[in-house]
Amino acid sequence: MRQQQIAIIGAGITGLTQALWLQRQGHQISLFERGGERLDHHCSHVGAGMLAPYCELGEAETVIAHWGATALNLWRALVPTLAQPVHMTCAGTLVVAHRQDRAGIQHLAERVTQAGFGAQQRWLQRDELRELEPELDSRFGEALYLAPEGEIDPRSLLPALVETLRQSGAMLHFATEVEAQASGEITVRGQRQLFDWVLDCRGLAAREQLPDLRGVRGEILTLHSREVRLNRPIRMMHPRYPLYIVPRPNHRFVVGATSIESDSLRPATVRSALELLSAAYALHPAFAEAEIVEINRQCRPAFPDHLPRITQQDHLLRINGLYRHGYLLSPLVAETVAALIRDQRPPAATALLWQPL
Ligand SMILES: Cc1cc2nc3c(=O)[nH]c(=O)nc-3n(C[C@H](O)[C@H](O)[C@H](O)COP(=O)(O)OP(=O)(O)OC[C@H]3O[C@@H](n4cnc5c(N)ncnc54)[C@H](O)[C@@H]3O)c2cc1C
Repeated sequence: MRQQQIAIIGAGITGLTQALWLQRQGHQISLFERGGERLDHHCSHVGAGMLAPYCELGEAETVIAHWGATALNLWRALVPTLAQPVHMTCAGTLVVAHRQDRAGIQHLAERVTQAGFGAQQRWLQRDELRELEPELDSRFGEALYLAPEGEIDPRSLLPALVETLRQSGAMLHFATEVEAQASGEITVRGQRQLFDWVLDCRGLAAREQLPDLRGVRGEILTLHSREVRLNRPIRMMHPRYPLYIVPRPNHRFVVGATSIESDSLRPATVRSALELLSAAYALHPAFAEAEIVEINRQCRPAFPDHLPRITQQDHLLRINGLYRHGYLLSPLVAETVAALIRDQRPPAATALLWQPL
């Protein structure tokens, strides 16, 4: 296939992963991002980076677990090839619950089994839990262990993707707003530019063209503690939304995330901060002395069915609706788009993602 000239709008996780995938297939990529290169303004900057296909079955459709399991393997293959080191671990997730929330963990275990992933989970009693997470065993008598899950740190991943693209010859235009986009063309500073393909990865900014796209607000915080030692992400059942505590390099712990039907970007509320902090404290009392190093919020771009979608209008593809799964699913979405450009149709396994107009 001849090299295609491809414009990608948006340097969130969707646009960056997409750019790298297509660049590695031999295409010439021009990436346009209205924000600065620090990339600290968008939803992807705030995301926690959990790669947890099975845990998501507590709320998500079965297909998310199938796609997520495939995408996790794509991440494992991709990360070692990036131009900068990226923090990624695959030590599984431990799911714990207080007595009153135990029904939630039971429900998750049943969903995992029904979806055909029973072999990936194991109930741990106190002794086994002590082996995996010595600091947790006195507070929880049992846990559900989802062995093949992982997490990736967006704060090292996003710059690594940018640097890899730069070194491999992609044209990167930061602080450059795309004013209009159509099949095979974009408008920047009043000038039309022509491409073989245009990929719209603008997240929530694409709402005008995707009227059923909405924002789902999430609040998240980062703690610093030298007193707490966790070896893997811990998920705590919670009556309103799943909470996780993700250990990160330099004694940091990401605690997230709320899920609220709102596209407001006002600062995190006291109520949400209290809920997240209480969860951390309930998991490990030493978090009482932790420092709060960041409280943040963003809105996840979501369609009503909570599945990602690739909408095609000739040579314009709008890739959006990654919702809670932008990190988990972006390599698989990128691979699907690459197949669409190459073969004019998506692979059978991800055909559901494609919506031609
Ligand atoms: C609190 C929270 C926790 C999360 N945790 C997880 C998790 O653990 N695991 C997981 O998989 N997902 C998680 N997510 C979801 C994930 O972060 C999102 O799905 C993902 O960030 C969406 O990425 P995106 O690239 O589609 O959009 P964005 O990150 O919003 O990127 C869109 C980009 O387009 C740019 N843009 C917009 N308009 C223009 C224009 N006209 N011209 C040029 N550029 C433009 C924007 O500036 C922006 O940089 C979480 C989200 C939140 C909020």
